[in-house]
Amino acid sequence: MKKLIQDFISLIFPDSCYSCQGVLLQGEYKVCTACRGNLPFTNYHKLNPSDNPITQKFFGKVPILYGLSFLQFAKDGKVQRLLHHIKYKNEPELAEILGNWYGAELFEKSFHQKFDMILSVPLHPKKLKIRGYNQSDYFGRGLSKQLQIPFYDNILLRNVHSSTQTKKTRYERWQNVHTIFNVSDSVDIKDKSILLVDDVITTGATLEACAKVLLELDVKFISIATIAVA
Ligand SMILES: [Zn+2]
Repeated sequence: MKKLIQDFISLIFPDSCYSCQGVLLQGEYKVCTACRGNLPFTNYHKLNPSDNPITQKFFGKVPILYGLSFLQFAKDGKVQRLLHHIKYKNEPELAEILGNWYGAELFEKSFHQKFDMILSVPLHPKKLKIRGYNQSDYFGRGLSKQLQIPFYDNILLRNVHSSTQTKKTRYERWQNVHTIFNVSDSVDIKDKSILLVDDVITTGATLEACAKVLLELDVKFISIATIAVA
């Protein structure tokens, strides 16, 4: 009976695709098949490292081995709608789905051999409390599953009393890096190749701050993977 009622409800109120808002067919889940095949993929993982726009973004600031981003962000586009659901509509599972899709592609290009561990950029504790989850953790878990590389959400930590990076001088920003992030010594990260995950790269300031804190602790390499790049 319950199943019958559920089928009836989904007949009247069918789920719609989080990307194009079209009706989902049976067997489709959260994103329709057409969108799945036609999202604006960056394909940065197929480029020569020297032509990679993400590693170039960090050039002269912090050394990044691989710059990986699944989707190209555009305002009012499909990717913005996906991110909106992930961040504000209590749909972190969508980030994990995207992580699974991207992880499978990265595996095909042998990226599972490039990293020892996956860490997520932590949210500010206040934001975490409001949202209830860190969307980057979900994306990281999806990648971890496909690449078969361990994911940790308890190594890179964000301090409670930290302000944002904007409107600060270069020196203040440098000082601020150490007041924003901390690294737990619960797992040995020395000489490890680390894949750092976040939701979107815009200026790259947050990822840069995380990378700097980790590099001071003698990790071997830092690479970056995000859901989207602006
Ligand atoms: Zn769609």
